[in-house]
Amino acid sequence: MPKSPFEIPPSDSFLNAPLRATIDLQALADNWRFMSRQSGKARAGAVVKADAYGLGIEDAGQTLYNAGARDFFVAVPPEGETLRIYAPDARIFVLSGLWEGMEDIFFDNDLVPVIASEEQLAFWMRTVAEHGDHPCAMHVDTGFNRLGLSMEDALYLASDVSRPASFSPVLLLSHLACADDPASPMNQKQLEAFRTIRAAFEGIEASLSASAGTFLDSDYHFDLTRPGISLYGAEAVNGVANPMKPVVKAEARIIQVRNAKAGETVSYGAACTLNRDSRLAIASVGYADGYLRNLSGHGVALRNTGLSGASGFIAGHKVPVVGRVTMDMTIFDVTDVPEKAVSAGDYIEVFGPNMPIDDVARNAGTIGYEMLTSLGLRYERHYLEAE
Ligand SMILES: *Cc1c(COP(=O)(O)O)cnc(C)c1O
Repeated sequence: MPKSPFEIPPSDSFLNAPLRATIDLQALADNWRFMSRQSGKARAGAVVKADAYGLGIEDAGQTLYNAGARDFFVAVPPEGETLRIYAPDARIFVLSGLWEGMEDIFFDNDLVPVIASEEQLAFWMRTVAEHGDHPCAMHVDTGFNRLGLSMEDALYLASDVSRPASFSPVLLLSHLACADDPASPMNQKQLEAFRTIRAAFEGIEASLSASAGTFLDSDYHFDLTRPGISLYGAEAVNGVANPMKPVVKAEARIIQVRNAKAGETVSYGAACTLNRDSRLAIASVGYADGYLRNLSGHGVALRNTGLSGASGFIAGHKVPVVGRVTMDMTIFDVTDVPEKAVSAGDYIEVFGPNMPIDDVARNAGTIGYEMLTSLGLRYERHYLEAE
């Protein structure tokens, strides 16, 4: 990764960590600027829920703020409370809205609830009638069937002259179900429904697209986009080259390199039989670290469907996982790497610039989002500072 003059040198504990993640904040900032350009006339927000997709909301939040983001989205109020320290004058939207009894955290930290249901709407109206004006956003469901007022309820609300003056939505929001598939007819259907809602609430800003929707045409941009996964470097749209810079390099230390003979078996269940004399590197990463058991070379349900397992990367070589991934360790076949190039103490890249996270995720039948948000607590993290 490129060196930045602002880089803080890695600590000894990072240099010796059994498991470590390097997080390139410059790449994160560059990815946000890319999504900002991709958003055309719309402003680009930044989604930092789930601890900024596992990378750390403090560092990621501050970096995105410094890059220019002023509209942030979190899932739950405590995430907003943390982010507020790093994004002092930004607008922070809370996507799951609010629960009765949690209103103070919204007022104290100036968080904007994204009203998600009729119950939340009724509660919020009572609350602001007492407390006074406080911004909110309104989620309207256009076909996802997760959160949001129904179209009918939203249209009724738009024409309801009796709604209190202290009820002041600043954003209309909806979420696309199939934006990762540009050819899906759902996109156009949801777009049309959202336009109807927007017309009913004239003068209120609108936001429809997460990362994938931002890559659809400019009709989907409205006033504000909500990129998440693209900022963190993983792929948002199926079947096209990912234009984002990788942000995370995850590496596991090799505990030992051992020789094994053809015909011997490897790992739990003796589910993998070696077909040649092999050198095996035992790396300090397992399913407790989010290196999913479905990445196993042999011996788990998904593998028996005929997909090959995942690979790591070391000394210029892709090295396949052999046998089952265990809780704390994974076994890689390093037979094809020159013997001198792999020793105990070296690091295998489990995903990163040389081993795209989405390729690894596909091997487990999942997506980069899940790999990132599953990074466990055992990763020692080192941040490369952004300029
Ligand atoms: C998670 C989420 C986003 C961000 O989605 P990405 O696919 O990560 O860009 C945007 N909007 C809503 C409502 C979300 O739940």
